[in-house]
Amino acid sequence: MNKQVFNFCSGPAVLPEAVLTEAQQALVNWQDSGTSILSISHRSEAFLAMAAEMERDFRELLNIPQSYKILLLPGGATLQFALVPLNLFSDRRRAAYVDTGHWSKRAIEEAKKYGDIQVIAKGYEAALETDWRIPADVDYLHCTPNETIDGVEFTKIPKSPVPIVADMSSTILSRPINVTEFNMIYAGAQKNIGPSGLVIAIIHEALLKEALPNTPTLLQYKVQSDYQSLYNTPSTFAWYITAQVLQWLKRQGGLAAMAVHNQTKAAKLYAEIDKTGFYYNPVPKACRSWMNVPFRLQNHQLEPVFLQAAEAAGLINLQGHRSVGGLRASLYNAMPMAGVEALLRFMQDFEKRNG
Ligand code: PMP
Repeated sequence: MNKQVFNFCSGPAVLPEAVLTEAQQALVNWQDSGTSILSISHRSEAFLAMAAEMERDFRELLNIPQSYKILLLPGGATLQFALVPLNLFSDRRRAAYVDTGHWSKRAIEEAKKYGDIQVIAKGYEAALETDWRIPADVDYLHCTPNETIDGVEFTKIPKSPVPIVADMSSTILSRPINVTEFNMIYAGAQKNIGPSGLVIAIIHEALLKEALPNTPTLLQYKVQSDYQSLYNTPSTFAWYITAQVLQWLKRQGGLAAMAVHNQTKAAKLYAEIDKTGFYYNPVPKACRSWMNVPFRLQNHQLEPVFLQAAEAAGLINLQGHRSVGGLRASLYNAMPMAGVEALLRFMQDFEKRNG
């Protein structure tokens, strides 16, 4: 029997076991076609049927109106940091950004290459009070509702005079959202959706227009929308896994069930972190992430010992991002309650031995 391992990686993250087991079969013989899913034409009837079903499942799970297009794009969420300005800027090339942490900053740095960027809110305050003063003379507002490294999240989205674009890489599909509060949502797939390298963009059709001059054809939202994301050969295997994950989510009871599952996991872990002061998390309680829980030991020097012992106990990838250090547990949809319970037992035991 394989050793029981719980993988707390922030991405590529753990995927549902049922999906992986089915994928094993599909790698050899997909849908009784006698050939591998890796060798199926993206123009074949069977593949297109799978893609159509995937889109229906996305719409059903997130309640996405027909006025929004769903695009599957290459390049990870990082490429979107450039594609958002390239595709959404008007001639004035001006946008507002909210900076709640690491990934906001990366988006801001990239967008600055293409135009005039105003940062209108910053830090924990920006997440705690989301009634930001949004200027009316910009092309869009960009925000990051879940900061994967900092463990900061906000869910209250303000009314805005300009389109709102959200990087939901690490929070999409973790709970129901009101898509119509946004004009565009994008998300790297490697946390709650599927394999890395793929991005899902949900974009209101009113935003589909000519991109800035010289934007590569493949990177134009309008072109990708006109071609149902099949302008070129997409990452077919990533599409396949995504389709399977969405079906798995429906079998779990959809996003309402996921919200309960995820909130419960996060609440248990934060309660343990806050219990005695041996561990701590610096984020104000009102904006703590359900998905990514960074924490530290009061005695930082014990952290490498904690990580090594955790790994030996089958609790892997608990190290914080290399830019901040410390520890972090990512609790995406596919992390079972048993994983969190195993982590709590380990934390209690480690504290007893070292506290
Ligand atoms: N935005 C957020 C919120 C992320 O968590 C990440 C990756 N962890 C990225 C953007 C970058 O994604 P990618 O590595 O897929 O480009």
